[in-house]
Amino acid sequence: MSDSYKGYREPVLSVLKKNNVRVWSEVEMQTTRGEFKGLILPRSETADAKHIVLKLINGYNIGIAAELVQSIREVGYKEAHYQIPEKDFPVDEGKPNVKLLGTGGTIASRLDYRTGAVIPAFSPGELYGSVPELADYCNLETEKLFGVFSENMGPEQWIKTAEAIGEEIEKGVDGIVIGHGTDTMHHTAAVLSFMVQNSPIPIVMVGSQRSSDRPSSDAALNLIHAVKTAAESDMAETMVCMFGPTSDQYGLLHRGTRVRKMHSSYRSTFRTISDIPLAMVDRDKITPLRQDYKRRRSDRNVNINAVFEEKVSIVYYYPNMKPDIIDSLVDNGYRGIVIAGTGLGHVNKPVYPALQRAREHGVAVYMTVQTLWGYVQMYVYETGREMMQLGVVPTANMLPETAYVKLGWALGQTDDLEKVKEIMLTPISGEITEREPYNGYLVYQGGIPEVEEFLRQIKR
Ligand code: ASP
Repeated sequence: MSDSYKGYREPVLSVLKKNNVRVWSEVEMQTTRGEFKGLILPRSETADAKHIVLKLINGYNIGIAAELVQSIREVGYKEAHYQIPEKDFPVDEGKPNVKLLGTGGTIASRLDYRTGAVIPAFSPGELYGSVPELADYCNLETEKLFGVFSENMGPEQWIKTAEAIGEEIEKGVDGIVIGHGTDTMHHTAAVLSFMVQNSPIPIVMVGSQRSSDRPSSDAALNLIHAVKTAAESDMAETMVCMFGPTSDQYGLLHRGTRVRKMHSSYRSTFRTISDIPLAMVDRDKITPLRQDYKRRRSDRNVNINAVFEEKVSIVYYYPNMKPDIIDSLVDNGYRGIVIAGTGLGHVNKPVYPALQRAREHGVAVYMTVQTLWGYVQMYVYETGREMMQLGVVPTANMLPETAYVKLGWALGQTDDLEKVKEIMLTPISGEITEREPYNGYLVYQGGIPEVEEFLRQIKR
């Protein structure tokens, strides 16, 4: 792609070409929604292909859908050199040492939240240049492990990340931050909760839901919260740190096995499911919402068990599902299947013979619930009992994605299905809990002040 159209793809590309304008053209744009004046900005590869991004004279960036454009006139050309100023990250012996491992996603590709730059920022100097507050909390080192959108994360990347975490812990860092695309951050958070056990330090995953060239970007604040947590918190767990409420009041720390991306575009997309989050974090303080977390230690005795059986699948049951869905997994050599069943954990009767066949072939089949909240209960209905006789194992209130990565991890360790079952049903990192909290709302979030206030009001 020529630099004149940096980041633009069809169908927007043709609109730019037709109107003889390019990136850095100062333009007057007539649209069905009125006239706009501004500078055409480059786009990142992660951006959609439908919008032209204009930096308006007031400094705001807006996206204009190409289909609304009637005409564009170039009135000038002003190439801006949006260099993120590289500044030496200051080293202060009195501050904790934090390592940022990058895997990709929006947060890695655009971090200059003030200028709207589209260049990648990742060295400590670039990060410091764009988010200087990071130096208030720690000495930061960075390393790019991968540069992928998170749908491309998988066993190979999970294993490498777990191993990199182990090496950093051995080297003596005080906290680890992992930059990650948000889409599958909860899969990675869960699998790292199993692969990395007994960590003496916080492992904090962070991403951004809105790219950093948008005024509403969450990239900088999420990063500040994550770095503060890694540097200062006494929570030695694998956590996800993202926006709490929709505004930028505070972030939430979620336990890696209990978190889920719940909204495709809200910044407050990550929610702890079936439980309450670990803590709230803002620039000044970390406020625990519970006490049952693993504490920071000074030893380096981490256990890294980075294995994964790839032949594991997750099947989301739907009415009228045919047995051939299960049969084809068995025929293709799958060794484990997690079902997300309806209600308390159901699939239709026609699938039962396929479950039996799976058992005969030594395939491990586990049941979770589509409702996300609540427990699999296979004793309530006769059908549940029947399914258990066919070898389907209920996984209490483990989230489907968590059960999927745990099964891959368990089958990576042993072929013995009894041992696999023991691993699956023994809680390691909060993936199975005894009860779910009364205030664990999905839309709000259990434990935080707004929810308590809400409950007070409805109880009145
Ligand atoms: N699609 C991106 C990803 O998950 C979104 C993001 O970075 O938040 O990698």
